[in-house]
Amino acid sequence: MDRIEKLKALKATPINPESDIALINQYAHKELTPEGVFCFPVHLCDNDVDRDTERFTKASLDKLAKLFLGKSGLIDHRWSAEKQVARLYRCETEEMSEKNSLGEPLYVLRGSAYMLRNDANKPLIEAIEGGIVKEVSVGCRMGECACSICSKKLKLDWCTWTYQCETGHIKGQEYDGKLCFGELKDPQEAFEFSFVAVPSQRGAGVTKGAENLNDAVELFKTSDIATVKAEDLKAIGQKIQLALTDDAERNERAKILAENKKFMKEQNQNG
Ligand SMILES: [Zn+2]
Repeated sequence: MDRIEKLKALKATPINPESDIALINQYAHKELTPEGVFCFPVHLCDNDVDRDTERFTKASLDKLAKLFLGKSGLIDHRWSAEKQVARLYRCETEEMSEKNSLGEPLYVLRGSAYMLRNDANKPLIEAIEGGIVKEVSVGCRMGECACSICSKKLKLDWCTWTYQCETGHIKGQEYDGKLCFGELKDPQEAFEFSFVAVPSQRGAGVTKGAENLNDAVELFKTSDIATVKAEDLKAIGQKIQLALTDDAERNERAKILAENKKFMKEQNQNG
């Protein structure tokens, strides 16, 4: 499987660094003090079915916990120059008291990350504490996405733009009252996480060339798209998926976009 990205809400509940400082210092180049760091939790993944109709298995979460440990948190290029600002110093799978949407015990892979409290990081720390930075993007590469009904591999069917297994189960559809979803198994690699500056750049917010869009759509529908680069097709596919998500979610994303744009503008003005 290719690298996958999941967007997760970032909750602004700082962790007291006092008790974690020894752990943090395992990753620091020079000895840090509790006053010198800002710590916060990151919800990396869980075993609930997400908006891609996929979920991580409990075994995947346990392995990802090991793979994510020590990985960086990035400000991506959409903020400014890409740079590492945070590091995960603890990753654990936790059993929550609530159930997931399948009625099973909910497990969350939670990371604890630290940032240096310096002038450069100050605006971002304030933005996290103030709830302006609301999302992180978490990346990993999984060995397999299996059909929840029959355990065979789910693959993208280019004709119908659906994920299907050999048996013919389609991701997102129900079979005898049971939802077919993707079981993300066999983690291969965990990548850094990023603070999401402009979440809707993933798909929504089409603002330029809208008047030509209908022509482009017509052209796309009637062309042989086999010559289009796979990565471009994937980007288009993501846009389509996002466009199909419901209005409430789109409105929420538009709100985050507006707030983040304001924050970026302020940050750029501050140098
Ligand atoms: Zn199946």
